[in-house]
Amino acid sequence: MVLRRTMLALCAGLSVAAWTTAAVAADAQLKVVASFSILGDMVREIGGRHVDLATLVGPEGDAHVYEPTPADATTIAAARLLVVNGLGFESWLPRLIEASGSSGEVIVASEGVVPRPIGGRHEEHAEADDEHHDHHHGADDPHAWQDLANGVIYARNIGSALAAADPVNADEYARATEAYVERLQALDAEVRAKLAAIPADRRTVVTSHDAFGYFGDAYGVTFVAPVGSSTEAEASAADVAQIIDQIRRENISAVFVENVSNTRMIDQIARETGAAIGGALYSDALSGPDAPAPTYTRMVAWNVLQLTRAMAGS
Ligand code: ZN
Repeated sequence: MVLRRTMLALCAGLSVAAWTTAAVAADAQLKVVASFSILGDMVREIGGRHVDLATLVGPEGDAHVYEPTPADATTIAAARLLVVNGLGFESWLPRLIEASGSSGEVIVASEGVVPRPIGGRHEEHAEADDEHHDHHHGADDPHAWQDLANGVIYARNIGSALAAADPVNADEYARATEAYVERLQALDAEVRAKLAAIPADRRTVVTSHDAFGYFGDAYGVTFVAPVGSSTEAEASAADVAQIIDQIRRENISAVFVENVSNTRMIDQIARETGAAIGGALYSDALSGPDAPAPTYTRMVAWNVLQLTRAMAGS
């Protein structure tokens, strides 16, 4: 892993520098790069006007299969902090960092999250799968942000990193972090209440790639997906046939398309089973400003609205 944590060393050096250049530092914005749109939104929420933010994989972008550009290397080289998801999400990033020659610090937003193995945490699942070992056993599911409790961990990691890199504004980052965390916790309670109102036997839905495992574990929804944890993989005809069988056999409320995945397979599944297509879920990227999920909190609220509508059967 090229990613390295040098926060303590950097911190010690900075506090000395901050004393001598405080007048300048108070005005200068901290240059921060976020690897994808959801992290970019969190940095903006907490860093506000003190941060000069660039986001590599923007709204509606798919970070699983992103191909960095030479301009990205230049952007990273100029940044003091690079905020990444970690958990194997940005597989293209270590090479990009190396190519950029960056000496900035890499902040892993998911540090401290309890990782969920790809394919789920259930013992019986691992045993039943003994026959075909095509899952990446041992690898982590990267989509931790889909559980708002993990979003709180991300926010606190980002807040601490901004404060350490820009100590002049540390109090403001701390206040912004706590205000944001309160909003995330309030939304988490709201999501729990909305999903608790749905009967247990209506809480299974189909999505295209397996991006909602953390959401499912946190809020009691079962997501079935013909594609694994990365959009890089393609579902085989057998995978799709198995899902179609399962939808017919079980009481599956709806199938959903995602903003970062091809809709063809989900259209086929809906056609062959007669299952309703719910709205589009935002899994790995925010929407643009004029669509329903331009921020992390609005993304979660939108997804929950689509899911509960479909599961309630209205
Ligand atoms: Zn994904």
